[in-house]
Amino acid sequence: MFALRAFAPGLTAVLAALAAVSLAACRGEPLPASSPAETAGRPIILVTVDTLRADRLGSYGSAKGLTPALDRFARGAARFTAAVTQVPLTLPAHATILTGLHPAAHGVRTNDGFRLATGVPTLAEALRARRYATGAFIGGYPLQASYGLARGFDRYDDDFLRAAGAVERPADEVVRAATAWIDQHQSQPFFAWLHLFDPHSPYAPPPPFAAAHADAPYDGEVAYTDAALGRLFDHLQRSGLFSRTAILIAADHGEALGEHGERTHGTFLYDATVRVPFLVRLAGGAAARAVTVPVETADLAPTIAAIAGASLGAVDGQNLLPLVHASAAAALGTPGSASHDAAAGDPERPAYSESYYQNVLLGWSPLRAVRTSRWKFIEAPRPELYDLESDPGERRNLADDRAALATGLQRALPSPAAGASVSPAPAAAGEAAERLRSLGYVSGSTIPSAASRAVDPKDRVEVWAAIEDGIDRAGRDPRGAQQSFERALRLDPGNGLAMKYLADVSFRAGQMRDARDGYRRAIAAGFRHPDAFVNLASIAERDGRLDEARAALTEAVQIMHGDADAWNRLGLLEARRGALDAARRAFTSAMAAEPGRAEPYYNLAVIERREGNEPAAQARLLEALARNPAYPEAQYELGTGYLLARQPEPALKAYQAALASRPDYAEALFGAARAALDLGRPDEARRDYERFVQVAPPEYRQQIAAAREALRGLERHR
Ligand SMILES: [Zn+2]
Repeated sequence: MFALRAFAPGLTAVLAALAAVSLAACRGEPLPASSPAETAGRPIILVTVDTLRADRLGSYGSAKGLTPALDRFARGAARFTAAVTQVPLTLPAHATILTGLHPAAHGVRTNDGFRLATGVPTLAEALRARRYATGAFIGGYPLQASYGLARGFDRYDDDFLRAAGAVERPADEVVRAATAWIDQHQSQPFFAWLHLFDPHSPYAPPPPFAAAHADAPYDGEVAYTDAALGRLFDHLQRSGLFSRTAILIAADHGEALGEHGERTHGTFLYDATVRVPFLVRLAGGAAARAVTVPVETADLAPTIAAIAGASLGAVDGQNLLPLVHASAAAALGTPGSASHDAAAGDPERPAYSESYYQNVLLGWSPLRAVRTSRWKFIEAPRPELYDLESDPGERRNLADDRAALATGLQRALPSPAAGASVSPAPAAAGEAAERLRSLGYVSGSTIPSAASRAVDPKDRVEVWAAIEDGIDRAGRDPRGAQQSFERALRLDPGNGLAMKYLADVSFRAGQMRDARDGYRRAIAAGFRHPDAFVNLASIAERDGRLDEARAALTEAVQIMHGDADAWNRLGLLEARRGALDAARRAFTSAMAAEPGRAEPYYNLAVIERREGNEPAAQARLLEALARNPAYPEAQYELGTGYLLARQPEPALKAYQAALASRPDYAEALFGAARAALDLGRPDEARRDYERFVQVAPPEYRQQIAAAREALRGLERHR
């Protein structure tokens, strides 16, 4: 079984072929802790529960009893009953939550290939400027620090992602990490954000929730997450923080669970995925009260900034504190207070939502919606209008019957450039694409055409369902995945994304001719994914067509200049062709694309060594090892450099470090024995030569003979 795409192995050197290079995850260093507070501000906790449908909460009308902790919490909170997310996808939704900006302003449109630009001000920065300690505790891969949301946080804990292939961690672990941090910072104003990912697919609740919800595992995940939140609330009660902390809880989006033909989320803008639970409990709490005015998750940032007395600048969201205070006063029956929340909010203020997921992936029309307290209008090739009062399930499209109302609501959409495509972002590639796929997210983009832009996603719902089903099966059921992608192609023969994923199935199965044909078809259909070009290159290279491989890798880095793996592979290929200058340039580009990666430094070191630039080679090896200390091949090369420079002592240290990671590393055993001999340590030399003779592959005939000769010499001098 072939991995779809792993970071390419390093160059080979000195003794002979080195085995595949281990993969090192690279992550940034945590930011330094903030200085102690000088201003007294209220502690603030924001909890975002990923993929939590509003209608699963008892306080939002569920009779399933899944959320006792949240329901108890809601009894002291303002509960917004018509809150919507601006995008039903994790990364852009959170970019809005943490900036107060709509996606058009912050620029993050899907989970794949976008990152929050450094110039976009964040809530965490504004709070830090008010001397808040800021900590974020992440539960899922789509919010990894490198996507840009970490800016402004003293601590951005996504450490669990360092494990190869990790995509999520359970709510209890997020709560444990967050409460430890909160305990350390409770004597100063702090802002803690917890991201609980569990209700996101795949649905696999832990015991006892799995057994209790065997036929509804999504509900089991919701119940588990609520229990973890209960433990957070208990901890805050015990430490006396609960009553003096402002706590805001919302979802980033819901989950369709098959409604309107949608399996998960991201495609449509129906309430199953855009309506979210939204609870605000200010310090001291208040009597429960519902606020029925439409609000946006973009309102969270300005509301939190207002609680902290911080300034966020001009944003799309609104400070909801007037609504919260009005609702609290009304609930307490305060004389003169608002008897209807219209007094504190505009019931016809339209709340915005969008989805560009299929637009980016497939070139189809984007969807944009506005929602008032009664109506929802969805802009699409076939526009939709729903009366949410009489038709909360959004089943009767009234766009034709109420055309004037529909047109009026369309005018409330933020930009007159309706239906414009966003510029396709570089897709996640390699490992990143694999991790997203394991969460059900597709990566890549299609060059849109006039015909594709006219496609209404709701008219292709079966195509999308087949693609999602294929992605869902890709890791565990290749045959089923293949059938699903083939079904998508029967329904939509020009679908380049389905062609590419079908080719991936062939590639993983080692059916290289099918894979090659599939990738070529996908590229011809406008779906240009770096992985397709990288895999085409590795097929061509395997068959000895080096020029073709080089052309494909050049395409990959043109699509995504930041694809460090593609640059690294291009460097390896150039080195194989003997073009060492071109190889050096490619490895340098790989370093620039992903500075934390050790492999390009190692490969460049091998090039320097081949060209006789010993000091440069050793310097590059040290840089590689600074990025990944457990990099046995780099330790080995470093040792060899010291040995060549007649420095047996550091040489032996380096070889020993290589052997600590790879005990039967033949080349390092040979080098260690040689260094030990130079140091006059015959017992060590004998041990390492003996082991070398045992483990060395047959092509080391000469070295094995040399080792035997050395062993005989050692025997004579015993
Ligand atoms: Zn999400």
